[in-house]
Amino acid sequence: MLPAGVETDVPLSRFTTIGTGGLAQYLAEPNEELALLAMLRWAEQQELQIAVIGLGSNLLPADTGFAGLVLRLAGALAGIEVTATGATVGGGAPLAAVVRKVGDAGLAGFEFACAIPGTIGGAVRMNAGAYGYELKNALVSVTICSAAGVRHARADELGLTYRHSNLEPGEIVTQATLALAPGDAAAIKALVRDYQGRRSAAQPRKARTFGSVFKNPPGEQTSGQLLEACGLKGYTVGGARISEKHANFIENFANATSADVLAVMVEARRRAREQFGVELEHEVQTLGAIVIPPA
Ligand SMILES: Cc1cc2nc3c(=O)[nH]c(=O)nc-3n(C[C@H](O)[C@H](O)[C@H](O)COP(=O)(O)OP(=O)(O)OC[C@H]3O[C@@H](n4cnc5c(N)ncnc54)[C@H](O)[C@@H]3O)c2cc1C
Repeated sequence: MLPAGVETDVPLSRFTTIGTGGLAQYLAEPNEELALLAMLRWAEQQELQIAVIGLGSNLLPADTGFAGLVLRLAGALAGIEVTATGATVGGGAPLAAVVRKVGDAGLAGFEFACAIPGTIGGAVRMNAGAYGYELKNALVSVTICSAAGVRHARADELGLTYRHSNLEPGEIVTQATLALAPGDAAAIKALVRDYQGRRSAAQPRKARTFGSVFKNPPGEQTSGQLLEACGLKGYTVGGARISEKHANFIENFANATSADVLAVMVEARRRAREQFGVELEHEVQTLGAIVIPPA
């Protein structure tokens, strides 16, 4: 029998910002730690793969879906508690909500996250960053749940480097402690507005995308600049195309499949290699039986 709250055959396209992907065999949204641990144990007994998703803002799921249990953190696992020196935040909390709450409390140092449409858990996993700041600058420690139980880790134990952590699949960040500095609420709001304005000017805002497709390679030029120089703006396969506004973004403009998106990525990587000798490494994460060919 299925544990309470576990649904079957749920379209993953509903839970990704790019809007592609097949069905999750099982999907659940536990709202407290005990419920999450019970689901993880159940999945282990059934020998099911486990995946966690946040706001799906950096995720390309297979068109064939995911054979296993997909978890999304809700309720107390997405709560935000502001403290005198920072915040204690559930892994499922949206970054935008954290930015607002700590800013209102006059705590500075998290403004950069206003432009990143994910959760705290996804941001820890990716060491998300913008405007010269990364999550690791504010992160003190995390709580991690897996089928093996609960563990705590300091930020410096997570191997946080450029869009990378050492978290394994099946390890779920359920809570993060942030350390922030005293600041002026009005100045914090002004900085957030400035970052948001810069975003709107440089990146597609209304289109369905998953943010940067590729990490920036070492050297002077960003992935976006290289792909633009390859003449790829507007390059289209099926319903997926490289944005005219920023060449490191792929837009789902007409019922794209993940296969369409993947085909655009493969061509972009081929052209960057051929024209500039640069091997682009993908930033987007995959879910299910989808393989981005090695660079
Ligand atoms: C318009 C746009 C702009 C963006 N700009 C930026 C940017 O400036 N900087 C940047 O770094 N990123 C950016 N991104 C990408 C994305 O928002 C970040 O990578 C974000 O951290 C992903 O968070 P998420 O909760 O949506 O994770 P998801 O996309 O749902 O998942 C990404 C990965 O994190 C894992 N994960 C999710 N939740 C947890 C958890 N609780 N515990 C453990 N692992 C977890 C997933 O399993 C997956 O491997 C952008 C995306 C978009 C659409």
